[in-house]
Amino acid sequence: MSDKLATAEQAQATTLMSTYQRFPITIVKGKGCSVWDDQGMEYLDFASGIGTCNLGHVPEAVEKQVANQLSQLWHCSNLYHHPAQQELADLLTTNSFGDEVFLCNSGAEANEAAIKLARRYAQKVKGTNAYEVVTFTQSFHGRTLGTLSATGQAKIQDGFAPLLPGFRCLPYNDSAALEELVTPETCAVLLELVQGEGGVHPAEKEWIEQLAAICQENDLLLMVDEVQTGIGRTGKLFAYEHYGIEPDVMSLAKGLGSGFPLGAVVAKKHVAKAFVPGTHGTTFGGNPLASTAGLATMTHLLGENIVQQAETQGSYLAGKLQQMKQKYQCIQAIRGLGLMQGIVLDGTVQAKEIITKGLEQGVLLLPAGPDVVRLLPPLIITTEEIDQAVAVLENIFGEIESGESE
Ligand SMILES: *Cc1c(COP(=O)(O)O)cnc(C)c1O
Repeated sequence: MSDKLATAEQAQATTLMSTYQRFPITIVKGKGCSVWDDQGMEYLDFASGIGTCNLGHVPEAVEKQVANQLSQLWHCSNLYHHPAQQELADLLTTNSFGDEVFLCNSGAEANEAAIKLARRYAQKVKGTNAYEVVTFTQSFHGRTLGTLSATGQAKIQDGFAPLLPGFRCLPYNDSAALEELVTPETCAVLLELVQGEGGVHPAEKEWIEQLAAICQENDLLLMVDEVQTGIGRTGKLFAYEHYGIEPDVMSLAKGLGSGFPLGAVVAKKHVAKAFVPGTHGTTFGGNPLASTAGLATMTHLLGENIVQQAETQGSYLAGKLQQMKQKYQCIQAIRGLGLMQGIVLDGTVQAKEIITKGLEQGVLLLPAGPDVVRLLPPLIITTEEIDQAVAVLENIFGEIESGESE
């Protein structure tokens, strides 16, 4: 490890709680697909703040609108109307299956709202006692008590018992397991169409079709967690479009605000009706700055064909990674959809090692579990930048397989 990295690592012993395993650099600036650390070193960003800076860093179209809003009004609470909220909700519903939107601050909060909506819809609108939400193994839905109880990964739940009741976890991409889906208590299904944190696992189309049909036949809500897959990430505006299904509820966050804390739940009208004044709320949710960032993000994304660009660049990246896989034994598979790609390792090398080497060679990468290197570049990534990142990856895999690395 270089002196610089060692120094930065020492600097991590701070008054911040150690909830994150941080990489040993300090980032102070970003523009487009690059960020810079406090030593002036430039990194090509294939992490995008975990799939958040979909338009790249400090995108001009968003910066201008937010700067304008910054001099007008920062916060007024949800006791009053704000135009950016309404315009953002209009854009989200016009461009999706949904009819109504609830704005919040994060992915976990969006899923919390979806879970509350599902329970209330079953109990108040349908008039049943159903409350159970079915989720899947290796899923990730957030870190609140509700959403970690919904999450299908023991490591996320460790030490937080008792978990919130009302969730049942079934194996992902498993058709046989769907036979156990429906019970008298079941009211909804919540799933990611491409599991992000759990290892970049795309759902199989047939399985999703089966799942959607069971939900329809049994009047269960189909709720898709598009916190990571939404806002163009997979080469469609929302990942459900790949699957020819129509969900009832969708949660969004990450890419929605270009980095401003903003989440949303989008629902069909008959489901959204379950929320009436006083049933759900948040102080900051849809605050003028965040809503303005969301509105500018969506407007730019739709107006400039960024989703189309993500599809094209996603295929290019996937092709390059497949070629790379042919050359290196320790790469077991390449999985993903659009600009959400995973390099699956065979267990002889850890994702962390690849990512640390990437950092030293100027490319930011992400893990998705111990054995998957996840790539989530901004949707505006160019072919040259993809080539550059793949060249660095090839160099790293070359070093590892020739035994040059320690
Ligand atoms: C990141 C993520 C969340 C949690 O979002 P936060 O904003 O961190 O609360 C939920 N679901 C999925 C699929 C995610 O990727």
